[in-house]
Amino acid sequence: MERKSAWDKIQDKKIVFRFCDDYIKYLNHSKTERVCVSYTRRLAEAAGFKELDTIDRLKPGMKVYKINRGKNIVLAAIGKDDIDSGFNLVAAHIDSPRIDVKQIPLYEDSNLALFKTHYYGGIKKYQWTAIPLSLIGVVVLEDGTVIDVNIGESENDPVFTITDLLPHLASEQMAKKMSEGIGGEDLNIIIGSLPSDCEKDKYKQTVIDLLQEKYQVQEEDFISAELELVPNFNARSLGLDSSMIAAYGQDDRVCAYTAYKAIAELDVPQRTAICFLADKEEIGSMGNTGMQSRFFENFVAKLIAKQKDGYCELMLKDAFSNAMCLSSDVTCAMDPTFKSVSEPLNSAYLGEGVAFSKFTGARGKSSTSDASAEFVAKIRKILNDADVAWQMTELGKVDQGGGGTVAQYIANLDVDTIDCGVPLLSMHAPYEVSSKVDVYMAYKAYKAFYVAE
Ligand code: MN
Ligand code: MN
Repeated sequence: MERKSAWDKIQDKKIVFRFCDDYIKYLNHSKTERVCVSYTRRLAEAAGFKELDTIDRLKPGMKVYKINRGKNIVLAAIGKDDIDSGFNLVAAHIDSPRIDVKQIPLYEDSNLALFKTHYYGGIKKYQWTAIPLSLIGVVVLEDGTVIDVNIGESENDPVFTITDLLPHLASEQMAKKMSEGIGGEDLNIIIGSLPSDCEKDKYKQTVIDLLQEKYQVQEEDFISAELELVPNFNARSLGLDSSMIAAYGQDDRVCAYTAYKAIAELDVPQRTAICFLADKEEIGSMGNTGMQSRFFENFVAKLIAKQKDGYCELMLKDAFSNAMCLSSDVTCAMDPTFKSVSEPLNSAYLGEGVAFSKFTGARGKSSTSDASAEFVAKIRKILNDADVAWQMTELGKVDQGGGGTVAQYIANLDVDTIDCGVPLLSMHAPYEVSSKVDVYMAYKAYKAFYVAE
């Protein structure tokens, strides 16, 4: 197999760069699943999508969306065919590895007020120390009032950080295994250092007073809060030639954005196109906002009921049996500095286009959906007919490690499913790297897939 740069298929590089400018904007408004859902909704409404429950009868060409508990959004472009004859689904996820604030977070020590945290997803903990972090999320009061918190993203806001040990005193730390250099309970966030007039807990009290004054939040309210610490730095073009993007959360908002953008630009497809942006993928797709939730089936059932007279369970089953899916998630690009973990023939490479994987999982293809040869052939044709630059890949060498995606949960619903996505360097780090041409090719692939028959 000859390796080819995806840039060779680009006539005018400006189109790719312009496309990625909007993607960079999306990343900067989407650092948590909640803000990603509200930003996507804003874009979708401006593009003509309507909330599904406001529509009585679905007709071809209509665009609808539904939000699940503020953390998961699904969008559909209604096709000419009935939905029980199948749909084309692109599923990505919008949660990313991060640091969550604990339910009882606040304490003071050595003239500092701090928050205890619990990390979310697979992180290398040492990467999250000594960098600026923003605090984004919600605090929900007992009466149901939702207070939005977003500190650090505006230029005049303060930021937060997790401390690390100075090298002068770190000889013991440095002798440890990398996985043990920073422990889970070491990820404490510095919140403040101003003493109050109180006798006891004077540093903690300043924070409590400020929270009361600015947000009308009491200490107990943290119990019903979801506060996430995410890298403060914004997405940027990377490299002397600006051909790449460095940003937090490209896993998997790169597939979320491209999948959204492609469905937003559809006219009237033959088959209904659906874009599902899931939460909780990084921790196993569990819970009612994850891919394993019934929410997705309920949404498709609702589409059918609003399209046809007399909904029945069999129609839903037919819709899934006849559906096909791109499970769209990032993969590992060959890193010239860490080549030994990848097998060169089957690795994804930066700049060679959107990466497909017949399977993910670990060891002997454990915990994965293995796409059928028949389905892979069909996908090849769709991509080649649309002149998409794509590559067939595996994540790392056999037995090197591995990972899963939402593919298996969608495939379990009786849907033909294959993994694909954008290759990244430094995946799951606070600053991940993608190639602009791969981002563009993912968008082109999703556009071609949505309208395939
Ligand atoms: Mn992912
Ligand atoms: Mn991930």
